[in-house]
Amino acid sequence: MVEVSHLTKKYGDFTAVSDLSFTIEDGLIYGFLGPNGAGKSTTMNIMTGCLSATEGEVIIEGHDIFEEPKEAKKCIGYLPEIPPLYPDLTPVEYLEFVARAKGVPSSELDEQIESVMEETGITVYANRPIKNLSKGYKQRVGIAQAIIGHPSLIILDEPTVGLDPKQIIEIRNLIKNLGKKHTVVLSSHILSEVQAICDRVMIISRGKMVAFDAPENLESLMLGEGTIEVKASCSKDIIEPVIASMEFATGYDIKEEDGGCTATVRIGSEDRQKTQAEMLRMFGEKGVPVYQITPVRASLEDVFIELTHGSSEPDAEEEEVEE
Ligand code: ADP
Ligand code: MG
Repeated sequence: MVEVSHLTKKYGDFTAVSDLSFTIEDGLIYGFLGPNGAGKSTTMNIMTGCLSATEGEVIIEGHDIFEEPKEAKKCIGYLPEIPPLYPDLTPVEYLEFVARAKGVPSSELDEQIESVMEETGITVYANRPIKNLSKGYKQRVGIAQAIIGHPSLIILDEPTVGLDPKQIIEIRNLIKNLGKKHTVVLSSHILSEVQAICDRVMIISRGKMVAFDAPENLESLMLGEGTIEVKASCSKDIIEPVIASMEFATGYDIKEEDGGCTATVRIGSEDRQKTQAEMLRMFGEKGVPVYQITPVRASLEDVFIELTHGSSEPDAEEEEVEE
């Protein structure tokens, strides 16, 4: 378990991370989601003991990262934004170097190196210099060095950045597998990615946490005020009076089309299911031939835009890796 309390990082007058507090439970995959410059890497660098904090506390498995860095770091495997690879070494040589630095006993070295290479799928390239590997395989080596030594917590900073779509899918699957054995924290600025991999999503904007929940709950954040779409095989003048009489409808729009009409009905922050059931009852009672009724759900993308108000740094580079 990781407990982060009131974490703040200032660079001079600029606050990169502002009063962040959250808890990471064992066994789940967490995603830090935020635009460039949001403070994701800064937070991860502090959590892993690579950077000091201006204020606040980070406790990893009961160890304070600032007071007991050695014990705390033993629990963490970290893949920074720029992986610390030695291009002239082969994966085996590099992993041996990392394992020794992490204090893996000599008697366990071979077995652990073999097992992490298998887990990350790099066994075939065990003896090829890292500089001759594709970007996807370099990233696998980076993940292998993070998991060697059996840390319980794996922290991955933008693990799929710069990869091609096939490599992205492979790395995502690899991360999902890691999630079966480890607690994983990853960062990403790609919504669909955290939606696909993570059990919990923390949205960060300008160094502040703006949401922290399961991906499906973030979507329901936007469902309070919402829209329901109704399709009926009748003309506008049949359906309109019934919708107009619905007390929970705060507004509506009806379009006539071939063979019927589509109404979009905005509702206040009522219970969606109850509202839909009540709608159906009223349409039934008045004999309106409704054949489809669908809530218009907000995507995580909508939640993200709503919560961060497009607060990406004006001069930040846009990443081109988007599906
Ligand atoms: P992210 O990883 O979410 O893209 P970062 O944590 O890298 O964001 O950066 C957060 C903010 O802190 C950015 O505005 C960045 O420019 C600023 N920042 C990061 N490192 C430094 C530094 N060493 N000195 C000054 N500002 C920095
Ligand atoms: Mg970053």
